[in-house]
Amino acid sequence: MLSAGGELIHVWNRCHACGAAPIVGTRFECRTCPTGPDSDLCQACYLLLQQGQIKHPPPEAREAPHGPHLFRAFEGTPREKVQHWLTVPDTSASAPPVPDRFVVRPEFRSGRESFFGSYAFIVVAEDGGDPLVLTALHILDELARFRGIDCSDANAAYTGSELPAQVTSVQLYDPFARNWMLAELGTARGMLLMPDARIGAVEPYSQRDIAAFRVAPSAPFLPLPLARSNPIVGEPIWLAVNHGPSTRDRTTEAVIVEITDKTFVFRFTLPAELPRYTSGAPLLNRLGEVVGINAGMGTLDKHKVGHGVQVASIRRHLGWQ
Ligand SMILES: [Zn+2]
Ligand SMILES: [Zn+2]
Repeated sequence: MLSAGGELIHVWNRCHACGAAPIVGTRFECRTCPTGPDSDLCQACYLLLQQGQIKHPPPEAREAPHGPHLFRAFEGTPREKVQHWLTVPDTSASAPPVPDRFVVRPEFRSGRESFFGSYAFIVVAEDGGDPLVLTALHILDELARFRGIDCSDANAAYTGSELPAQVTSVQLYDPFARNWMLAELGTARGMLLMPDARIGAVEPYSQRDIAAFRVAPSAPFLPLPLARSNPIVGEPIWLAVNHGPSTRDRTTEAVIVEITDKTFVFRFTLPAELPRYTSGAPLLNRLGEVVGINAGMGTLDKHKVGHGVQVASIRRHLGWQ
């Protein structure tokens, strides 16, 4: 019999049927649904699905393809490999201000089609050009699938230019506005070519999950700078998203619990109430500089954890080293 410490878990995946988070034991991931919070089932719920007792995709899923959905089984990670994320002490520091016209909600246009993403944000361009919109590549997954483009690691033929060729423009909205769809801030032009950007790495190894666009000249944005270097374990950072109309807070505090060339993991320090979709949102340090792009959320022993694309990787993709 396995001890509690020997069990296999899936920190980054929640069962969309029973709500188990993390999923313990074998996880079944739908390969047909877009990457997101509605694509995983625990083993018990997968069996119920096969018996016709639960629905997949769930009724609340944003965009779900018709036809048969194909699943793949994943075994998980030993709990003791991630338990050290809970031993880094909480921090307590003042949150940096999040200015208006920095965090945005993108609408990606592709010909006559349009696809909304969760979050993006505006950074100062170190090449002296117009500011850039940064986000996670996987929030373009619906568009990519609609156009039949596979920009995952599994597709060795993907060069990094096929998806940018399909994104004609991006409209940017204010996600903090009471009615954000009426709060258009401006537009961005074409998607930058980043040959090494990919969707779908095993979480939390998300260092290639990045997309960037150049904002139109004179657009009224308030870009923030990238931090000079990566943050360190134990340092506080803040995720900037809209928590809903009842709160004025724009930041949720977290502490960095692991950072390597391949990953950047943080643990939220308070019992964080986070919106359902947060990918592509900025991670800021106490100076209000960008230290990462939020790429995924998970749960470990009732703590919320996240992972992102660290600032050194952002620079590498943009050729700003
Ligand atoms: Zn379940
Ligand atoms: Zn599915």
